[in-house]
Amino acid sequence: MPRILLVEDEPAIADTVQYALRADGFEPVHCLTGGEALRRVATEDFALAVLDVGLPDIGGFALCRELRRGRELPVIFLTAQGAEADRILGLEIGADDYVTKPFSPRELVARVRVVLRRAGGAATEPPAAAAGFDHDADGKRIRFRGQPLDLTRYEYGLLAALLQRPGAVLSRAQLMDRVWGDALDSGDRTVDTHIKTLRAKLREVDATADPVRTHRGLGYSIDAR
Ligand code: CA
Repeated sequence: MPRILLVEDEPAIADTVQYALRADGFEPVHCLTGGEALRRVATEDFALAVLDVGLPDIGGFALCRELRRGRELPVIFLTAQGAEADRILGLEIGADDYVTKPFSPRELVARVRVVLRRAGGAATEPPAAAAGFDHDADGKRIRFRGQPLDLTRYEYGLLAALLQRPGAVLSRAQLMDRVWGDALDSGDRTVDTHIKTLRAKLREVDATADPVRTHRGLGYSIDAR
């Protein structure tokens, strides 16, 4: 069951949304505040977030930015009626969709389905295209040439990020953002250091293999098949 993070400070709205999500086979997790939501995403996985724009402790847009730091998370905003500026800003900062209050819970659930289908299609296609790799994203395990790799958390994060789009160059900043999004003490060198240890582990499997490419001044990529 896909877990849906719902951040909404009005209990009556939250109740009807949760009921509709459950009826449609989703597992809603409700938070009353942005702070609570941030604590939960730090340790739990969610397929999508539904965010009320007007929260007591943090604006929905700022919360969206924080929630997405270091992770892919589709977002649907709940905006107040007639708040045109809200809708525009929501889409500008990368909301996948928005629903204007008052809304029918069934309409919201239908939009959740559409956004998840779109996000799933984008996320499941490319990984198969990297040469020699077999990525089990749920189990957070990667095999190279059939051999399971014994990776640290950061090595895994780097490799998983590169495997998402084989052939595409990711800058150090992009890698930092995706892999070290939650850490404070990190610099550009951190990426280089972990790429180095990652390469060593790939060479242990095959001494001639070097699928990770350095693009001077740009970043890193992994070879497409
Ligand atoms: Ca509210």
